[in-house]
Amino acid sequence: MKYQSYTLKNLHQIKLLNDLPDEIVDSIKVVGQVLPFKSNNYVLEELINWNNFEKDPLFTLTFPRKEMLKPNDYKIVKQCLNQKELATAVSLIRAGLNPHPAEQMEKNVPIFNGIPLNGIQHKYRETMLAFPSKGQLCHAFCSFCFRWPQFSGIKEKKFALKNADLMIGYLKEHPEITDVLFTGGDPMIMHAKAFEIFIDAIIKSGIKTVKTIRIGSKTLSFWPYRYLTDSDSDELLDLFKKVTDAGFHLSFMAHICHENEMSTDAFKEAVKAIRDTGTIIRTQSPVMQHINDNSENWSNMWRKQVSLGMIPYYMFVARNTGSHRYFSIPILKAYDIFRKAYMKVSGVARTVRGPIMSASPGKIGIDGIVDTDKGKVISLSFIQGRNPEWVKRPFFAKYDEKAVWLDDLKPAFGKSNFFFNEHDVLLKN
Ligand SMILES: *Cc1c(COP(=O)(O)O)cnc(C)c1O
Ligand code: SF4
Repeated sequence: MKYQSYTLKNLHQIKLLNDLPDEIVDSIKVVGQVLPFKSNNYVLEELINWNNFEKDPLFTLTFPRKEMLKPNDYKIVKQCLNQKELATAVSLIRAGLNPHPAEQMEKNVPIFNGIPLNGIQHKYRETMLAFPSKGQLCHAFCSFCFRWPQFSGIKEKKFALKNADLMIGYLKEHPEITDVLFTGGDPMIMHAKAFEIFIDAIIKSGIKTVKTIRIGSKTLSFWPYRYLTDSDSDELLDLFKKVTDAGFHLSFMAHICHENEMSTDAFKEAVKAIRDTGTIIRTQSPVMQHINDNSENWSNMWRKQVSLGMIPYYMFVARNTGSHRYFSIPILKAYDIFRKAYMKVSGVARTVRGPIMSASPGKIGIDGIVDTDKGKVISLSFIQGRNPEWVKRPFFAKYDEKAVWLDDLKPAFGKSNFFFNEHDVLLKN
């Protein structure tokens, strides 16, 4: 299949939209001014169920919808369409959508030889994130994307690593880093040759402390032809093989929200092609209202992933950014969905952890509800902490059925702070 992308500019070329009510198409144009829209022929033709588009999870994952904006914001953008006030209105609305959650910009960018390394994040001791500059797009965008600001031309906030030298220098100074995770956007949007520069730099550096290279990608479900028929598919797979042959563990972190994303032959063939290079595929996704907020979907996904040789890894809670109002579900509902799905799968799929809030202090798991003499409390613990000492220490929040994020939770048992707020020791970069 040959890749054809669609954005607002060529929206009119999507023939499948012709049969939809005008109102729906109008709302794509309006909300698409604020939240990024991009899709492609594979997602549109093979993944979306157009007969039931109103309720179809892949339609909602792809297209901006009216309900994603506050009614008043929607009205404002609609009135400003094609007017010179549009840009101002849009940037005001975007600023109100918490474009930089979890304080990524302030806290995670390391300093090396006195310069901030803008294409790198180092938050958890063992793992460094690398954002290659050519990998800062995706083959299609998710309407809930937590990296939406970088696709919206909010320039100064864009992470980007132009070459590998600084990354190698940083790795040499930080022998505690065992994992380099390439992310974006989607690093698999890069040409194999562009990605090879970073991979070769690591292999040739002779750094012994890095053991695992990870690639965070949505391509398996948004563009599996990346591994089948793109002009550099073979080159890319050879590169994966080169990594595993060099003795690294290569882990492909596949972002998959819904079982329908695993329904095509192309998906299965791509999984096989990647696995044939010695790469292990792990899977992760947030749990989102209107997309995958039911346990059936999760247990089906995990079972199917295992049967295709993939390893379920993380279920996340929707981040507090973008159209959080539309996608978020209470953390206790996420917990309920996780538990019901986990119950239904065998041990080989219980490698998955969740639900997890990837928040400023760390990745915090919701472990359960505990009945105490003083009433019900929520039990939580860190899976990753900005301070590694925080990991796996149970802590308790007041029972709250409405809380959708860490900020909504209050410490239980009359405490004024959670333990990690009391001594907020930052990891020294
Ligand atoms: C999730 C995440 C990682 C990876 O965490 P693992 O638990 O090792 O998968 C690394 N860095 C940041 C900033 C993250 O959010
Ligand atoms: S694949 Fe990830 S980075 Fe790309 S649009 Fe979706 S959520 Fe955003």
